Amino acid sequence: MNIEVINTGTELLLGNTLNTHSAWFGRELFKLGLRIARQTTVPDGEAITVAITESIRRADVLIVTGGLGPTSDDLTREITAEVLGLELITDEAALRSLEGFFTMRGRPMAAANLKQVLCPVGADILPNPNGTAPGIYVPPRLNGRSNCAIFLLPGPPRELYPMYQAEVVPRLRALSGVETAYEALELKFTGIGESDFHQGIDAELAAIPGLEYGYCAHIGEVDLRLIGAPAALAQGRAITLGHFEKFLISDDGCSLEAMVVRLLTARNLKLATAESCTGGLIANRITDVPGASAVLTHGFVTYANAAKVGLLGVSASDLEAHGAVSETVACQMAAGALRVSGADIAVAVTGIAGPSGGTAEKPVGTAWIGLATKDAAATAFKVYHPRNRHDFKLAVSQSALEAVRQSCL
Ligand code: AMP
Ligand code: MG
Repeated sequence: MNIEVINTGTELLLGNTLNTHSAWFGRELFKLGLRIARQTTVPDGEAITVAITESIRRADVLIVTGGLGPTSDDLTREITAEVLGLELITDEAALRSLEGFFTMRGRPMAAANLKQVLCPVGADILPNPNGTAPGIYVPPRLNGRSNCAIFLLPGPPRELYPMYQAEVVPRLRALSGVETAYEALELKFTGIGESDFHQGIDAELAAIPGLEYGYCAHIGEVDLRLIGAPAALAQGRAITLGHFEKFLISDDGCSLEAMVVRLLTARNLKLATAESCTGGLIANRITDVPGASAVLTHGFVTYANAAKVGLLGVSASDLEAHGAVSETVACQMAAGALRVSGADIAVAVTGIAGPSGGTAEKPVGTAWIGLATKDAAATAFKVYHPRNRHDFKLAVSQSALEAVRQSCL
């Protein structure tokens, strides 16, 4: 199936907004065993007409993002109708839902919003529970002008992603029949580098007939995607786990933080965090997971030494003697968080994000991760993630979450 994606928006070409959609669609479609044959980014306006006209000649499926808003530069809907020679009419159900959207928020609806519920005759409205712009699905051969299935989707990711999952995926499956032909599996690993991982399994995976596979490295994580018939997937999975099972986070695409929440919930354990250098990122990642309230009791952000002493009972003299980034302080932070929160497990991090503040003994990128549980004395281990501040925080939070996960196994 030949799939094309058109991302619209002048901001994408001016460099004001990074076009994350094209990568996101690549990943999501890949999970279905589908590929993007061509991706085009165009500014708002006439260029959209040209891009859509060309794409529907080549493609079986066209996905267009952006330009469904209420403003005068949002023209995707109008241009698509014009290219296909379809009349636009108000969709009554979409109108009621749009009015409801504004009533719920106690805001009056502007007249400009009315164009958002226009739909080409014969096309489907794709509901948008997260915004004002419904999507549109134009089935192939609607009026003989194109054999291409066309999806028009909103630009904002928080509207686009759920709409894609709810409305686009089922239609793509029906169009492509991939469900019967292929399955996909995503295995996530942490604590091992991409090249070691690759070297350990690549030749064996390559020898499995009909198996497609791909690696994706993130900070503190390597993902392996397997695509193929169930038997090939099972073989690929078995080979990979044979080498790397101890590094496995999940075999169903579940993120590390979601796995931590899942394990803590299953064991009925409560978690508290005490964070210095990550500034709350660990608690933030945990609270990104639905159901986090069942497991997270406290998230202390103790950035200053005085906060470590005052909130967590870290010893001022130990801080003086060993420094904030030390095994002793990491242990005391974890023990203090456990005591104050009453949780079953506490994880603590303290590190040097840089760019300044490093020494020969404790270079930038050093962090100590402390772990305390009800039935054992607090322990700590050192990690070294010399990266920019953002990536350092992410890497340290990954190490800390992995420590919690290990302690739940
Ligand atoms: P629109 O639906 O065209 O009004 O898009 C609204 C907003 O969605 C833009 O201002 C961007 O913040 C975001 N957006 C649109 N297209 C993209 C894209 N390709 N990648 C990332 N963000 C986007
Ligand atoms: Mg736009």
